[in-house]
Amino acid sequence: MNRSIQALQDALSFPTISYSQRSLMDSAVFEGFVKRLQFHYPLIFKHAHITRFHQHTHLFHFKGENDTHPIALMGHYDVVPVSSTWSVPPFSGHIQDNYIYGRGALDMKGHLIAVFESIERLLEQGYKFNQDLYIMMGHNEETGSDEADSGAEAMMNHLKSCGIKLHLVIDEGGNYISKEQLHVNQDLTLIGIGEKGYMDVRAIVNDPGGHSSTPPKHSALVEPMKLGVHVETHKFKPVLNPATVAMFKACAPFASFPHSLYYRYPQIFKWFILNDCLQDPKLAAHFRTTAVMTMVSGASSMNVLPQVGLVNLNVRIAPHQTSQDILKAFNNVKGSNVRLEVDFANEPTPISRLDDGVFDDVVSCLQSVYPSMSLVVPSLMVAATDARYMHEISDHVFRACPFESMKEDRHTVHADNERLSLDSFEKGILFFTKIIKTFA
Ligand SMILES: [Zn+2]
Repeated sequence: MNRSIQALQDALSFPTISYSQRSLMDSAVFEGFVKRLQFHYPLIFKHAHITRFHQHTHLFHFKGENDTHPIALMGHYDVVPVSSTWSVPPFSGHIQDNYIYGRGALDMKGHLIAVFESIERLLEQGYKFNQDLYIMMGHNEETGSDEADSGAEAMMNHLKSCGIKLHLVIDEGGNYISKEQLHVNQDLTLIGIGEKGYMDVRAIVNDPGGHSSTPPKHSALVEPMKLGVHVETHKFKPVLNPATVAMFKACAPFASFPHSLYYRYPQIFKWFILNDCLQDPKLAAHFRTTAVMTMVSGASSMNVLPQVGLVNLNVRIAPHQTSQDILKAFNNVKGSNVRLEVDFANEPTPISRLDDGVFDDVVSCLQSVYPSMSLVVPSLMVAATDARYMHEISDHVFRACPFESMKEDRHTVHADNERLSLDSFEKGILFFTKIIKTFA
């Protein structure tokens, strides 16, 4: 068996599970993963200057002839837990019918090992980097992105304090829109160029409580629920943000009439586009801030009036708004006795530049490996990734999946029988090789 597959099998056999309760994270397993990585990729560990953050996050730095346009390949090696309903062992790197199975195969040890394999191969060939190259290997993306011990944030702060501005960052992608949704004649490959913001808002009413046989006019749940219902039935205004406009423009040559015309001039035909896309809630999320009730809590017993009525609103903030805008909107419609508490908020990221050829070069690298990927387009990431930190030190932060098989197997991410096709895995290695030869 070749090294890359062996290395991925080994990587998948370490249950590097992320837990919000940090004491549950098994330090020895994380150390074991890194030791095994060193076994397979000795030249990387020999040539790179390695800095650790929060114990298990690793920043690998390879010096290039120049440091004017450094690039970074990002990834995380923590994974989410598994259920007992897998039909193959989740932590063994089981191979069957040209697929490798295991928690993390797609999210995202496959991606990470492809990065390592491509660099080790280049070092074996005596490749000299023209520009500084970094591997940013985080250990707590799944549970730590917003925590004080975020590995990604620590790496960003370190580079920032060194005055380093990255010319290019590539992290995990996972956005998906079908060709039918956009009326185009080719499968879409999406590269995320910016992310929505995230906020949890709790709407709370306090009440003396009492026995439910003699209720007051309203229980404490009514007003928070009213706000929740209002928010879900009065959606935020849809707006064409720069990422979505860029997506439509790139789709125009591949779309059927009249969509081809609308997409060429999205600002002019905005209402036609919105009218079509807002029918589909998944597409609608690309245009507007979304807010949805995710938790409700009341009394602890069925025949007791709640002393605290609480509704949690999970909000994903579109690029044209801020968390303050959303709070203001909630404040304007909430009942006077409702208190709003923000549990956590981060703002939408800036949108990466598309006008200077860097994005186009990344697309060319992908298409050189997958010639049939004719429609690779920029898009807004509606979920959150660690890459969002990097906008602070780079104008070109791209979330790209190097594996074509992700499209058909994306439903296995964070689910049972996660798998990666071995053919896509090898192509992913070639993609990163191409990226490094192009940019570093
Ligand atoms: Zn991930």
